[in-house]
Amino acid sequence: LNRRLAGMGTTIFAEMSALATATGSINLGQGFPDTDGPHEIAQAAADAVLSGRGNQYPPGPGIPELRTAITEHQQRFYGLSYDPDTEVLVTAGATEAIAASLLALLEPGDEVIAFEPFYDSYAACIAMAGAVRVPLTLRQPEFRPDLDELRSLITPRTRLLLINTPHNPTGTVLTPEELATIAEIAVEHDLLVITDEVYEHLVFATGHHPIAALPGMRERTVSISSAGKTFSFTGWKVGWVTASAPLVAAVRTAKQYLTYVSAGPFQYAVAEALRLPDSYFTGFRADLLRKRDLLANGLAAAGFQVVVPEGTYFITTDITPLGEKDGLEFCRTLPERCGVVAIPNVVFYDNAEAGRSLVRFTFCKRDEVLADAVERLQRL
Ligand code: PMP
Ligand code: GLN
Repeated sequence: LNRRLAGMGTTIFAEMSALATATGSINLGQGFPDTDGPHEIAQAAADAVLSGRGNQYPPGPGIPELRTAITEHQQRFYGLSYDPDTEVLVTAGATEAIAASLLALLEPGDEVIAFEPFYDSYAACIAMAGAVRVPLTLRQPEFRPDLDELRSLITPRTRLLLINTPHNPTGTVLTPEELATIAEIAVEHDLLVITDEVYEHLVFATGHHPIAALPGMRERTVSISSAGKTFSFTGWKVGWVTASAPLVAAVRTAKQYLTYVSAGPFQYAVAEALRLPDSYFTGFRADLLRKRDLLANGLAAAGFQVVVPEGTYFITTDITPLGEKDGLEFCRTLPERCGVVAIPNVVFYDNAEAGRSLVRFTFCKRDEVLADAVERLQRL
């Protein structure tokens, strides 16, 4: 393994999911639903396979039906207009969109400011691009960004801001005011912004606000999302980028040599999914809100300090009130102590001290599974 990837051996998700399987524990670690998305969307994927749509290499930028559906989605929910031919790129999940964007836009030595804790692929992809990550730590109890600190982190080498809202793992949703300040800073320092919005539809009260809609941002923002979370098909790995034509062209260049294209039949199904009526999106959110409250209340009753998330399907907790200090050790022993798997947030930090006692649980599971997990955790 080269120096750039030193220390990035196995992702925490692989480690913890393997531990869940080996111990027969309830897996509240890796974020994947235990119930698949809408049947008619699964049927659309099956129909595409059986009728021979997408079984051979689809077009590099993604099938036109999906690119059009993505632009319609951006218009419908955010009033953002994109050209499906030049301003949209379909990728192998948001993960590839992140990798291709960073590889395409960074020069070696460039600095990238990212909220810490960060989703694990950010650090790896910044490293693979030969760039330098500069963490802006979201601090307890609210996990909000200190935007004066953001200003202070900017140097002549800063090339881009990598933001994530709703934020994994804290559940923080950036407010319109925070986004406006971030946009102002980006414009003032002529920075690019990559915004990971895979949880755009998993927002409870505040609503999701894309930074690309703010003044001066359209031409400097690469917006990333994915069908995995919104439609509960995380295994399909269909993601996308929307941005100005020159930025999409750059990201497409990198994507060509990573995967060339993404799986064809699922693209037809996701095109249908993006056109589901509003009732799908509101129903999905209402379901998740109930699950959030079920798990948040259960964790609080079990003695965890709970940070109630405004979005995503994750809850970050602090284990200090349980007399515990080390989240990594806690998560490694939790399966044998009570048959539950969680994720230690410390792996998402450079500044390990800030994340040492934090542990993430997902609530994208059936209510009875959450109830069972809560009961087990209360016996700790
Ligand atoms: N970004 C964030 C913040 C995520 O939580 C995830 C889900 N693991 C991804 C990107 C990757 O999404 P996908 O599965 O579409 O590659
Ligand atoms: N995004 C999901 C999570 O944070 C899944 C991560 C993954 O499998 N790489 O749990």
